[in-house]
Amino acid sequence: MTKKTTVKCSFCGKPEDRVPLMLNGGNGGYICSNCVQQAYTLLVQEGAIPATGSVPESNGDLNLMLPKEIKAKLDEYVIGQDEAKIAMSVAVYNHYKRLSQKTKDDGVEIEKSNIIMLGSTGTGKTLLARTVARLLEVPFAIVDATVLTEAGYVGEDVESILSRLLQAADYNQEKAERGIVFIDEIDKIARKGDNPSITRDVSGEGVQQGLLKLLEGSIVNVPPKGGRKHPDQDYVHLDTHNILFICGGAFEGIERKIAQRLNTHTVGFDNVQARHNLDSRNLMQYVQPQDLRKFGLIPELIGRLPVVTYLHPLDREALRNILTEPKNSLIRQQKKLFKMDGVELKFTDEALETMVDKAVERGLGARGLRGIVEAVMTDLQFSTPGSDCKEITITAEYVREQLKKSEVL
Ligand code: ADP
Repeated sequence: MTKKTTVKCSFCGKPEDRVPLMLNGGNGGYICSNCVQQAYTLLVQEGAIPATGSVPESNGDLNLMLPKEIKAKLDEYVIGQDEAKIAMSVAVYNHYKRLSQKTKDDGVEIEKSNIIMLGSTGTGKTLLARTVARLLEVPFAIVDATVLTEAGYVGEDVESILSRLLQAADYNQEKAERGIVFIDEIDKIARKGDNPSITRDVSGEGVQQGLLKLLEGSIVNVPPKGGRKHPDQDYVHLDTHNILFICGGAFEGIERKIAQRLNTHTVGFDNVQARHNLDSRNLMQYVQPQDLRKFGLIPELIGRLPVVTYLHPLDREALRNILTEPKNSLIRQQKKLFKMDGVELKFTDEALETMVDKAVERGLGARGLRGIVEAVMTDLQFSTPGSDCKEITITAEYVREQLKKSEVL
């Protein structure tokens, strides 16, 4: 009697009927197509073979642009913020250059260029990160640092950050491993006070510690559906070496730390200011890693965020530009919505100015603009579709009327 044996992969042990293809290596050894693909990716990552062909989809996918090209594209969507755009373009370029480095034989390994951006709320931090991810066509996830807690406490594990990225990549692990994660409100997990805490600090320092391994690059067990980890769950082993982390935060009050530092060098801030021609109204632009430390980020975390940049508060002119200039500006979006109903929508300059005045008055920066535009346009969005109207011009008077109405309600 002959017993039929099932062929199994000599590497992962999976039987023939559970893999796409099984290759017979002779001498009784087999390898399945999954293991071939994994081996190929590893060889490319190690620089042993060039990244060609269609197997490592993610390498081919990368839409690598020069820093100048990245900046020019960012200009189409984000108003102002040149310093942050330049820092971001260079960091992103270096990051993806690092991914394509063929060999590490010369001993020179380019380090990761994770970024930290400081700037008040609504100045474009998220928009910058999101736009870069879109340009490069890589998966992008946004997480709020305030929902994260140290393992074992109520809240989300830091690994849940990667679950989101995995979701954004449609569960394509290779793609996720080259994605971009934006961690918002990083300033909210700062250690309270300048000294290391003696008692356990659940929401702050513990989370910072937890983030370290993600940021520097390691293999992390990720629960694919997010939430809390538990022992019976299947994990995806995600490699974070090539994931770019961008952190953002308002860092309210950091100006005081910056002023203190500038002051310590000499007798008075006025002197320093005069000598270096400092702009005392916007001290954030002089931020240095040591200020972040004083603010309460732990040195290990700061070390893993080598690119520090800042965004300017938006002035009236910037708000006015934001309304109309970006490729998908609020006004362009409204025009498109109406065009789809066969209506040409126009705004007088005064109408736009009136909306900007309101945004300045509300003090919500660019975030306020959206609410204002919605309040102005809702009535027309309701009444126009289905009517025989072909052209509408929004005047300052109409804006004032609608805003008044929305405020009374
Ligand atoms: P932040 O992350 O800094 O709090 P966001 O990037 O979420 O702010 O900005 C909120 C909204 O305001 C964005 O969706 C965008 O429409 C608009 N906005 C903010 N800053 C800019 C800018 N510099 N250029 C264009 N639009 C901006």
